[in-house]
Amino acid sequence: MKIGTRLALIVSLVLETGVLRAEDRPGEAYFWNHPHTQLEPQKVTLTGLLEGSRLESPALRVVYARQNTAIEIDSSWNSRRSQNVYYHLSFAWDWMKRHYPDLISPETHGDRQLIVRLDISDEFSDGSHWFAVEEKNRKYNTALSIPGSTSAKTDETEAWAREIWFRPARHLPSQGGLARSVDAYRQAGIIQSIYGSLVLSAGVEGVRRSQVLGNARGFLSSGIDCATSVLALELFFRGTKAVDRSFPSHRFREVSLIPEVIYHEAAHIALAEQINIAHDSPLAEGLANYFAAKMLGSPQLMKRDKEWNRGSPIRNGESNTRYDPSFETRAKAQGNFAFQLLWSMGEALGPSENAVFARAIPLLTSQSELGRDVPRAFFEAVSSEPNAETLRLKLQKVFAEAGL
Ligand SMILES: [Zn+2]
Repeated sequence: MKIGTRLALIVSLVLETGVLRAEDRPGEAYFWNHPHTQLEPQKVTLTGLLEGSRLESPALRVVYARQNTAIEIDSSWNSRRSQNVYYHLSFAWDWMKRHYPDLISPETHGDRQLIVRLDISDEFSDGSHWFAVEEKNRKYNTALSIPGSTSAKTDETEAWAREIWFRPARHLPSQGGLARSVDAYRQAGIIQSIYGSLVLSAGVEGVRRSQVLGNARGFLSSGIDCATSVLALELFFRGTKAVDRSFPSHRFREVSLIPEVIYHEAAHIALAEQINIAHDSPLAEGLANYFAAKMLGSPQLMKRDKEWNRGSPIRNGESNTRYDPSFETRAKAQGNFAFQLLWSMGEALGPSENAVFARAIPLLTSQSELGRDVPRAFFEAVSSEPNAETLRLKLQKVFAEAGL
């Protein structure tokens, strides 16, 4: 059989059996404008759809809350936000496949489908997948990566693979008073989480100790240390004045619209085989911010957008904070230092950046320390580069400038 005939046969077989039935559809996604002050909608092409009318590919399925059916592509607001998530996650997968083909998880390669849940306000549970919580304990304005199920499930609960959850957006009022700020944080679900005990040690009045500790314990026992998104709130630890200044009127964030929030969660999933997403840590968050910034093409994350992103702390890879041992603690997991360190290292490595990161990351875990394990892993990773000695000196300079 001639090669041409054989190819034609294969193509027609593939078409008939539906193996490659991917479709493209026009859709909408949001992008920062050039001063990085507004998110603006643009027409995009949604690629790789299994059937043209729903947001599902072999690699991704975007659903609403607890549902299982992919969201339809139409002009409704929920669909447009979902199209944005689909587009930017597909972009993030392509980016990771291009730059880190040997490092990334099966989801990123499209070997396993990632479920993305929009507007889900349930609490995660390692035993039951999720459970409903009272209105006052619901979480808003954040996103998180969910580890796959680990233990045997009851008949009512099917096993699940890794997922990304986007919380609903909600205005959280704060009228300048500390109590109201604390209340806004409580409503954001931050105090109930791992930060509970730290808030107490910071001496914040007006938070009922038993309630906070009870919730923190409940949160931890639910099995998720959770890799929350960039938005979480290290400002809390800088004292009450900073909190009040940072929240003049309302906090609000439509996480499903913000590209770097989507990239951040995509990075958690992409690296999940190396850096466990079930353990929140400064290195895990720093890496997710580093990759989000690379995909965004800017070291400035979460710049404010009056309409969709109000009151977020900006993450800046170019800041120059000096190392402090407290940056190693989980309470500081959402801080800027690890991101700043990784960004500076990337700049110093120049054309060797991706190769060195790809060799260093498998030498690290989510529990690795910034001050000890990160330099060790990267020194080892540069040793096989042709200009190893030059790169080692450059890294040494970065570590010295960061106070390591
Ligand atoms: Zn994160």
